[in-house]
Amino acid sequence: MESFTRMSDTSDSSDKTDDRSIVSANRRTFMGAVGAITGASALGGSALANDDGSETELSGGDSRSGDAHNAIVVIPDGAGQAHISGARYLKAWREDPEEFPLNITPDGTSLNVDRAEQIGGMSTQPDDPDQLITDSAAAGTAMATGTKIYSGAISGIGTEENFTPVRTILEAAHDAGMATGLVTTTEITHATPAKFASHVPDRGMGEEIARQYVENATVDVLLGGGKHHFDPEEREDGEDLIACAQEQGYQYVETDDELDSVDSRKVLGLFGSETDRSTHMSYYVDREYVGDTDEPDLVDMTEMAIETLSKCDNGFFLMIESGRVDHQGHAHDNAITHEQLECDEVFGTVLDYVEDPSTPETFAMQVADHETGGMSLGADAYDMDWEAIDNIRASLEYLDDAMDDYQGTDEVAELIEKRTGLELSYGELMDATGGQLTDVLNARTQMGWSSDSHTAEEVPAYAHGPNAEFFGRYFDNTEVSVGIADVLGLEFEPGQEIDYEYQE
Ligand SMILES: [Zn+2]
Repeated sequence: MESFTRMSDTSDSSDKTDDRSIVSANRRTFMGAVGAITGASALGGSALANDDGSETELSGGDSRSGDAHNAIVVIPDGAGQAHISGARYLKAWREDPEEFPLNITPDGTSLNVDRAEQIGGMSTQPDDPDQLITDSAAAGTAMATGTKIYSGAISGIGTEENFTPVRTILEAAHDAGMATGLVTTTEITHATPAKFASHVPDRGMGEEIARQYVENATVDVLLGGGKHHFDPEEREDGEDLIACAQEQGYQYVETDDELDSVDSRKVLGLFGSETDRSTHMSYYVDREYVGDTDEPDLVDMTEMAIETLSKCDNGFFLMIESGRVDHQGHAHDNAITHEQLECDEVFGTVLDYVEDPSTPETFAMQVADHETGGMSLGADAYDMDWEAIDNIRASLEYLDDAMDDYQGTDEVAELIEKRTGLELSYGELMDATGGQLTDVLNARTQMGWSSDSHTAEEVPAYAHGPNAEFFGRYFDNTEVSVGIADVLGLEFEPGQEIDYEYQE
């Protein structure tokens, strides 16, 4: 693991340009926040307080007095406890297949989440008396703004017809002069990153979310997929948001090599497979083993984001999402364990930075927004085939696409063996070519799934650094931003309405 010492040494105040002086015409007009950090509902109250001038205090500069200089949140989208265990068992199998499963002990196989000082659990339900199970937008809005909303909304309150934006923890950090970053393997406009730095009544408004990112410029480092929402040839309004971002001072990159060359304090990186830059980044197994890609790994993106953001003397807030865990949960793809293990390496990279004695005090946590798939380790037998899971060399999505191009069962058998190591029986081949490949593979590995969508379970949380004990318990998803604001010493009030323009 590379030391982060060099990164902290790069903090050179002589080239400290004030990137935050760039303010767009659409920037919301509110400034600051009133009151202490409390869980009390104050919807609308802060706006009134701001209007009459009482108690209003402009935030900004380095006036905050929290216990941490920086905060980093890692979100494996859709990861419940089985996902964490799955990553651990995959690692245990790799490290010692002879000893497996007897090496699944704290001494035998450790994950990076085990390094966290505090372990807790988080609630996930949305603000809806008739709905127990959340979507990513409502879940993330609760985490980013401290207030709950209906499923599908991005960082606001009310209804789809009467939507009022509320301030996010990232915006509070930005207003306090901190650097901010959003890193993901999904489209950068996808629900989880979007809720930290945009406000729309419907998560499907990707083009508007991209416009808000670029025009508001509240996020210094934006790395993920989904170039199409920035591309003038693909946007409905024909706006060139990439050129617009460059005018705002962003360095634009779209390959792993270009990411390595980043030397700016503001970066927009939009990555994808060489054949398709218009959607999410590739799954880990496709990036790693299929090979026609120039995308960076999530660990590389994390390191570059930390290196870039740590140049800010006022500290930084960074959210990193392993976003495609959720997609593999929806698809019932056993490669989800590879994706989750990559996320664990990301959290390890974060903890290496946190524990480096030369870096400033940094709070770090990993917590999902909800569980997806009802994933379980075991289906109908008392054992699982971890050799088969370890041997996966492509996503189910890749296999399904590839099968369309193959003729006859022999070619399909060859494809499956090459990408999974499994020799399918004639009956299995018939099922696989008949659209049942997912069931065939899960029957082999004995991984179980109870749902095609999200589930209601509470999700595991891991916290490290100053005030980590705040999360070492069962907590509500609205408490994530409250706890981070507290540790950073930010002025932040959950559910604070803001005057913010968005285009329908
Ligand atoms: Zn989600």
